[in-house]
Amino acid sequence: MEYFKCSSEELEKEYAALKKRYKDEKGKGLSLNMARGKPGKEQLDLSLKMLDVMNSKSDFIGEDGMDCRNYGIFHGIDECRKLFGEILGVPSNSVMVGGNSSLNMMFDTISCMMTKPIVEGCKPWYEVPDRKFLCPVPGYDRHFGITQYYGFEMIPVPMNENGPDMDIVERLVSNDESIKGIWCVPKYSNPNGITYSDETVRRFASLKPAAKDFRIMWDNAYCIHDITDTPDKLLNIVDECRKTGNVDLPVLFCSTSKITFPGAGVAAMAASSNNMKVFAARYNYEIISYDKLNMLRHVKFFGDFNGVLKHMEKHKAILKPKFDIVLNTLDKELKPTGTANWTNPNGGYFVSVDVMEGTAKRVVHLCRDAGVVLTGAGATYPLGNDPHDSNIRIAPTFPPNNELEQAMDIFCTCAKLAACEKLLG
Ligand code: PLP
Repeated sequence: MEYFKCSSEELEKEYAALKKRYKDEKGKGLSLNMARGKPGKEQLDLSLKMLDVMNSKSDFIGEDGMDCRNYGIFHGIDECRKLFGEILGVPSNSVMVGGNSSLNMMFDTISCMMTKPIVEGCKPWYEVPDRKFLCPVPGYDRHFGITQYYGFEMIPVPMNENGPDMDIVERLVSNDESIKGIWCVPKYSNPNGITYSDETVRRFASLKPAAKDFRIMWDNAYCIHDITDTPDKLLNIVDECRKTGNVDLPVLFCSTSKITFPGAGVAAMAASSNNMKVFAARYNYEIISYDKLNMLRHVKFFGDFNGVLKHMEKHKAILKPKFDIVLNTLDKELKPTGTANWTNPNGGYFVSVDVMEGTAKRVVHLCRDAGVVLTGAGATYPLGNDPHDSNIRIAPTFPPNNELEQAMDIFCTCAKLAACEKLLG
């Protein structure tokens, strides 16, 4: 039944039925979690054999002749730079392979530009008291956390089906020298699963920022993470920037966190030689070399880029049924009420649900009381401030399928309950 068209008697009846259903579900004493985008156990098991590709009898010498057990080559071993070059679609000599976290590399990158000018003649960002950063919303809470930590004013930019609203981005960056960058998850964005259109990528590559040291933080965390047989295609920003002469604009990031093991994978970044020179100068002080054994282990396990893509097919087979559970339950339970909208992504790790305006916090609260943990309402906005109190990020990958079914039933009950409460005032 469509809630907005219901009489108050009809709504009261629905509300009473939902309250009973909620009480029954709460009584089950469940403990379910759809909060963070973590791979499930079955996905982690896919990479177990990687732990067998190296043992005490292995050859630890990399292609460049370096003994990977020892200090050396802080930008990573050649074969791993090549692999990440293919994953990111950039030349391997523009790649730096880091430790176990791309978020860590993003934090370091911002930190570097806080203290050292990325362009000669510009001020380090800590000397720009009114520094600002653009934050497409809804977006990734940990991105916003980095720029919050470094004292940026964060300006939300709405996302549409093509990516961030580029009219707003262009207007803002061309007029304000204190805007220093933008967070982007260009493919299967976190949380709404949108892939930036070709036009959006071209407009990014053609930006004319007032700040010479404006940088695009191009976090391609889900670049090869398809879940359907009709994957999205993302235009290559580095190629486009080469055409416009804006080669220094983007800084790219990715990792194997959602390919092998989160927290025990390998991360990488790529940037123009001008940018890399400044970043490398800092890394030289920060570290002697990252974990080359883990780099070598990953390369030996996959063989080549094709091996990575084959591995991703196995993830896809596990993830597709999980996304189907989420989407089918939303279709069955929430669609008829007309109170919510959600995304139907071709990849990534999330389904982004907009519940009835003004009810997201209440839904998350009701779910928690019934034993289902969700990402906090508002987390997808800078400073946790969703002006519509509407967006909730569903992360379907971690719970086993039977638990996911239960959790989604409870989520839908709570979303309907909160909508009825709101409409009945
Ligand atoms: N970037 C995005 C968009 C993510 O969603 C995540 C994790 O959820 C990360 C980065 C974290 O990546 P890493 O494990 O490489 O630090």
